[in-house]
Amino acid sequence: MIFAANFKTNHTRKSTELYIEELNEKLGAKKPEDRVYLFPPATALDAYEGDFKVGTQNAYPAVNGAYTGEIGLEQLDEFDIRTILIGHSERREQLGESQENVAEKFAFFQEHDFEIIYCIGEPLHVREKGFEAVMQYLLAQFDGIDLNYDSLIVAYEPIWAIGTGRSATIEEISTTHRALKKAIADKPLLYGGSAKPANIKEIISIAGVDGVLVGSASLDAESFSEMILA
Ligand code: PEP
Repeated sequence: MIFAANFKTNHTRKSTELYIEELNEKLGAKKPEDRVYLFPPATALDAYEGDFKVGTQNAYPAVNGAYTGEIGLEQLDEFDIRTILIGHSERREQLGESQENVAEKFAFFQEHDFEIIYCIGEPLHVREKGFEAVMQYLLAQFDGIDLNYDSLIVAYEPIWAIGTGRSATIEEISTTHRALKKAIADKPLLYGGSAKPANIKEIISIAGVDGVLVGSASLDAESFSEMILA
């Protein structure tokens, strides 16, 4: 299983160090085949030691240059960051990233051999239209994305379940993952959206779920490690 923690705009460099210290104490008990990823904010990126990979929540598709407020490959290379989240709904919706922007970013980081966790997810009004509309919406988020890329992990995150405390139902996750697996073949498929210690066992036991991308419940090392060890 894959367990990925997205801190979003939470934690500082100092609190990330303390988090990692605590996580490392717990990870000794994790199954060797389970993979853990941490996505701290950009100011806390560093070459940390531990049984996990550190990735960036975002970066600009350039080595360096005049992109005010952004970080590029050069800044990631400094800490040997080789993993990136692309397509998160908060970047699509709040930062205005279009499918074209997302695909351009994907192509750049693919070219530089990054491991990419590529996020897709539908808003509530689309879910309410029914399954066919959901799949049409989700599959359009693969436009311009090379689904044959070896280092690709897909995360299905229904937007209405993100940060709301309301996870998708087992049935919703199961049917959506089954349909998505047909498009992405053997690539790992994570679920994201209010995954937490109380529902993790149920979620990871669903066929077609290869792990979870966790926001709120990953902010506390105790809670995230409880999910990994569940
Ligand atoms: C996320 O934003 O990737 C996420 C899954 O958030 P949460 O776990 O808080 O719903």
